[in-house]
Amino acid sequence: VQTIIAVTSNKFAPLAQWTRLFAASGADVRVADIDDMTINVKEVAYALCFRPQAGRLAQFPNLRLIISLGAGVDHLTSDPSLPAAVPIARMSTDQTRDQMADYVAWACLSLLRDVPRMRNAQAAHEWEQFSIGRTARDCRVGILGLGAMGMSAASCLQGIGFKVKGWVRRPRPGGEIDCLCREEGLRELAAQSDILVCMLPSSPALHGIIDQSILALMPRGAGIVNVARGEHVVVPDLLAALEAGQLGSAVLDVLPQEPLPASDPLWDHPNIIVTPHLASIVSMQTAADHAVMLISAMERDETPTYLFDRIKGY
Ligand code: NDP
Repeated sequence: VQTIIAVTSNKFAPLAQWTRLFAASGADVRVADIDDMTINVKEVAYALCFRPQAGRLAQFPNLRLIISLGAGVDHLTSDPSLPAAVPIARMSTDQTRDQMADYVAWACLSLLRDVPRMRNAQAAHEWEQFSIGRTARDCRVGILGLGAMGMSAASCLQGIGFKVKGWVRRPRPGGEIDCLCREEGLRELAAQSDILVCMLPSSPALHGIIDQSILALMPRGAGIVNVARGEHVVVPDLLAALEAGQLGSAVLDVLPQEPLPASDPLWDHPNIIVTPHLASIVSMQTAADHAVMLISAMERDETPTYLFDRIKGY
């Protein structure tokens, strides 16, 4: 009997396309829709999925590996019946990291050059010339979380000229990016950052980390970029800081509620750029190649790369 890989399929990632990609890779797996209730659950050894129905993964008794279609795994760990013994691999690929670096570079340059102001002037048909009087070399960026994504963004920003520092859990003496740790390090970094970029994992302990107390420490008119999870930023505090002029502008790719409701005032805020959680979305080809690489490692009884650590929480 051929092993089944159960995949999340939808109009952006159709089952027929997944089937073609896995067939072309030569992988010895049969592809099935994870929601197909006619599949023999005992034959499912792998799942390549994003936000599967709660309880669905627990129905596969011979599941060997869960492959997240995203770099984050909160869409899996939020399922209380997630099988505790099955390893979870994260979608961490060169493409994921490069896309994130491109996005963060775009976001920081947009804040540096005050793109919200340009956008508002264009909408009002106003020819408003202005000088910001500084370049990336004068702009300090603090990155919260220097994991695979954070490091990729940090190198890209440094290449453009930004002055980059990071905040991590474990000290990194002598690392290529200066890093701070712990609560006091976070406060110090906030005070030194013209732009703060959130690239932390979605551990509950980190929820609400960008709040009034951190925003108040930042230089007046500073910027925020959030590409991690909506829960990291306390939105009412962000809005109050913008209103008070303490914060200049923000780029938010992730929001506490997704999709952001059409009636939410964040859409129309003159100093906020909202994007619909698209900073880094892996292509189907890359996702399939990554899954085949992980499955091959499992079949050789090797430990696959980029496993989620349930104890660390990321
Ligand atoms: P990693 O798990 O590789 O890295 C996490 C980083 O956060 C590490 O540097 C870690 O420090 C640091 N960290 C964790 N806990 C703490 C803490 N308590 N205090 C200080 N630092 C801490 O994550 P990724 O780089 O893969 O992903 C980052 C984020 O990006 C995730 O939230 C993910 O969901 C999000 N993401 C968003 C996407 C989008 O399209 N918007 C797409 C993909 C990912 P240390 O190095 O010391 O362990």
